[in-house]
Amino acid sequence: MTSADILVIGGGIAGLSAAAALASHGQVAVLEAEEQIGFHSSGRSATMVHYALGDRLVRALTLAGRPFFDEPPEGFTDEALGRRMPVLVHAREDERPALDALDAEISQFANLERLDAAGVHALCPLLKDDSQHGIADLNATRLDPHALLQGNLRQLKSNGGELHTGARVAAVRRRSALWQVTTEQGDVHSAPLLVNAAGSWADAVAKLAGVAPLGLEPKRRTIITFDASPGTELDGLPFAKTVGDELYFAPESGRLFASPMDEVPSEPCDAQPDEYEVALAAYRMEERTIVKVSQIHSKWAGLRTFTPDRHPAVGFAPDAEGFFWLAGQGGFGLQTSPAMARIAATLIAGTPWPVPDVTAAELSPGRFLGQPA
Ligand SMILES: Cc1cc2nc3c(=O)[nH]c(=O)nc-3n(C[C@H](O)[C@H](O)[C@H](O)COP(=O)(O)OP(=O)(O)OC[C@H]3O[C@@H](n4cnc5c(N)ncnc54)[C@H](O)[C@@H]3O)c2cc1C
Repeated sequence: MTSADILVIGGGIAGLSAAAALASHGQVAVLEAEEQIGFHSSGRSATMVHYALGDRLVRALTLAGRPFFDEPPEGFTDEALGRRMPVLVHAREDERPALDALDAEISQFANLERLDAAGVHALCPLLKDDSQHGIADLNATRLDPHALLQGNLRQLKSNGGELHTGARVAAVRRRSALWQVTTEQGDVHSAPLLVNAAGSWADAVAKLAGVAPLGLEPKRRTIITFDASPGTELDGLPFAKTVGDELYFAPESGRLFASPMDEVPSEPCDAQPDEYEVALAAYRMEERTIVKVSQIHSKWAGLRTFTPDRHPAVGFAPDAEGFFWLAGQGGFGLQTSPAMARIAATLIAGTPWPVPDVTAAELSPGRFLGQPA
């Protein structure tokens, strides 16, 4: 049996970033079911930091993480956490009102350039002529998820924290003011504080502990990669997204990647791409661009897990002492991880509140359980 001050269940970006932020405040141990970190959602994302998803609260959390991505703390990583990649949101004539509305919302968070048809095609020559309008964030970032996960792990370990992989939590019970967690292998870990960062499985982990679930909904999203036509200039292409949730694509290691932005309800699982969404990605790519998707090079799917109001849940469970929720990061868990980790540290260790435009009540798990924050 091992003991710690804080046990974190989940070695994705949520669990590891919170563990790294907490490691200077106590002895932290992370329990990850898989043999490697980031095996599920955190290793399958589009890895962008941008403001075209979510709403005001998600954008505020994203903005609060920008300084961390631009200048990671001392000793966090030897590599850059990301590189500049412009984000272009484009629209046909009939989609212009939606683009105007998005422009008004995002302008509070990023310096946007408004583009006419010539500007849209100069930035992304692959789009068909009917993409007439655009907004561009030339200062957006494509993250390196490996560097981000490893940097958090390094920070955890340098502060004396531990990671246990291949440690799938099978039983959780509260005994004498301690959470006692037993893995499938029979190892037992205990701590007064338990952080539930189990991604799509967070409700299942809560149920193991006898804690009321939040009603989390995992939704599958698919990505394909494929070759562009020979001679296509990929350098400098943006992450290009339709103003509606139809399609995004971007350059990826000498090829292109694309997603039909699917949101298919799923059980928590090792998500696999479905042939329908794979075909839909190729179809929409050919519908909105001049690219022919003649051969798919690779495909994958991951789960984006949402709370009922699509805002993340971070805070103590109102119905169980020492049980802390860190869940519901939806499609923005990488880009909001610096802010979410610091908020977790604030609520657990009393550090200063890090995101001025967001309140603890807005993020409180209690809002789904009919309880005040
Ligand atoms: C296709 C796609 C595109 C995306 N694009 C972006 C993007 O551009 N930008 C962005 O910011 N976000 C993006 N996301 C969202 C982002 O990937 C997620 O929000 C984020 O990875 C969630 O992190 P997590 O740590 O909560 O979940 P996970 O990475 O799934 O980690 C949870 C971990 O908990 C572990 N676990 C579960 N149950 C147990 C147990 N009983 N015992 C021990 N361990 C357990 C799991 O094995 C898993 O490793 C995208 C996601 C997808 C799928």
